[in-house]
Amino acid sequence: MSNPPPTPAKAAAIDGASPAPARKRRPPRRVEVSRIEVLSPAMRRITLTGAELQGFEPTAPASYLKLIFPEPGQREPTRPLPEGPRAVSMRTYTPLAVRPDVLEVDVDFVLHGEGPASGWAAQAQIGQVLYLMGPGPGYPVDASATQHLLLADDSALPAVETILAALPASARVQLLLEVISAAEERPLHSPAALTLQWLARGADHRAAGLPLEKALRSLPAIAPETKIYLACEAAAMRRIRQLLVDELGVSRGQIVGRGYWKLGVVNHPDHDYGDDA
Ligand SMILES: Cc1cc2nc3c(=O)[nH]c(=O)nc-3n(C[C@H](O)[C@H](O)[C@H](O)COP(=O)(O)OP(=O)(O)OC[C@H]3O[C@@H](n4cnc5c(N)ncnc54)[C@H](O)[C@@H]3O)c2cc1C
Repeated sequence: MSNPPPTPAKAAAIDGASPAPARKRRPPRRVEVSRIEVLSPAMRRITLTGAELQGFEPTAPASYLKLIFPEPGQREPTRPLPEGPRAVSMRTYTPLAVRPDVLEVDVDFVLHGEGPASGWAAQAQIGQVLYLMGPGPGYPVDASATQHLLLADDSALPAVETILAALPASARVQLLLEVISAAEERPLHSPAALTLQWLARGADHRAAGLPLEKALRSLPAIAPETKIYLACEAAAMRRIRQLLVDELGVSRGQIVGRGYWKLGVVNHPDHDYGDDA
């Protein structure tokens, strides 16, 4: 089962990049950093908490939220948000674990270098304030499917973890995961039978997707019933989609693609499904 892209109005509503639709949006929720965990050299798990998280409950794996970061010189973002496209530093992240009973959400940040989100995560401290919007739609796992192939880079690792957790024990899942270096490797778990390959890209982000492409070419034939979730750098996602369809005999309907970031582009949109590829 593939998730339909949100309607333009829905996408714009959460992205904040286009004129506001007529429907009233929920105001952003104020959250504070309550825990910081160093998962690996390039990955920080930051727990956000606050009374305003009441009712924040994503309904599918690989859903997303928007985080609004303070501007230079601000202690916390302004509310109400300033009007206009790009008036605030807002970026898209994955609610990795949501604990409604204690009003907490965990978000894993890749420290990739420049950018308000990566920079903020690298300096994050307990008590700092962000605003949070969402959740946006996710990837409803087809519980009747027995074969899954997940192709992702580090930005989509949190999304992949939520998918792994949602798979039934009856399923088999092959995961190809591209990260900066072998130091990023850590145990991942799923009720399904998991085969996992970590692929090191190196520090040069221009190589995004190349290790995934190489490893994909070495896999055995992909069965027609396999459900494929592909999330990584946007141009790499398109190349890999084409590789799957043109060379590996996969049908388009088997693939759900997501461009999670784009080389050289600030704040890539949250609704890039690569359907043009
Ligand atoms: C649905 C969805 C869920 C996402 N969930 C997560 C998540 O849980 N954790 C996570 O870390 N990211 C996640 N991302 C990706 C994240 O939104 C982008 O990486 C975002 O651009 C980070 O913002 P920034 O301010 O750090 O960089 P930006 O200001 O957007 O970009 C600055 C520069 O950094 C580059 N860049 C951006 N991201 C990366 C990257 N990952 N690796 C290398 N270079 C990069 C850009 O090409 C640009 O040149 C998700 C994206 C989507 C669409």
